[in-house]
Amino acid sequence: MAFAIGVVATAAGWAWAIVLVAFFVSSTALTLWRADDKRRSTINTIPQLPERTARQVAANGGVFALCLLLNFRNVSPRWQLAALGALAAANADTWATEIGIMMGGTPRSILSWRRVTLGMSGGVTLFGTLAGATGALFIAELASFLLPALHPRLLLIVAVAGTFGMLSDSMAGATVQTRRYCDRCREWTERRVHPCGYRTSHRHGFKWITNDEVNVFGALMGACAAIALERVLRG
Ligand SMILES: [Zn+2]
Repeated sequence: MAFAIGVVATAAGWAWAIVLVAFFVSSTALTLWRADDKRRSTINTIPQLPERTARQVAANGGVFALCLLLNFRNVSPRWQLAALGALAAANADTWATEIGIMMGGTPRSILSWRRVTLGMSGGVTLFGTLAGATGALFIAELASFLLPALHPRLLLIVAVAGTFGMLSDSMAGATVQTRRYCDRCREWTERRVHPCGYRTSHRHGFKWITNDEVNVFGALMGACAAIALERVLRG
């Protein structure tokens, strides 16, 4: 999957390949950063961080590649901005998750503002959200440097679209994403089997909507927001 995405990006041009590599490298580096600490602090909530993130990166890069394929068919700044919006959303989500879990403090539900278990989807912290917005800005800065002719407001469009995609991801995580419950520990979780050994049961959201589906949705929202902003700013 990652290889296919890389081929599409390289076919689109070296600037696209560099933006994609920057996404993969920064996401992977942040995932590896204090990985053991993060695994320990979210052991009750998240299945297995590295596995989950590898799938997440592949799923998120998919929307980026799709937009570039649409751009091959019909070359347009709109599809290119959409691709960047999707990638900025994916990057924002990863930065927010990986930095927020370590340094954000107690997460609260983006919807109800109630405290949630660390690592649960839909849980946000101020610091994590700011880190995510910085992740979107990182992709936007790099793209405006490498693709200066694409759009005069590229930086603004991609940074805002990426942040919007990340927040959409959290909203979907708090509402439709599957959430499980351990009756023994009386604790919400995303694990099928809790560390206590008890099988958890599905209690909230749709069973088939996991973190991966929600990540694809967030990337799609990033792409749509970029297209919408391009329209608005064109006047
Ligand atoms: Zn338990």
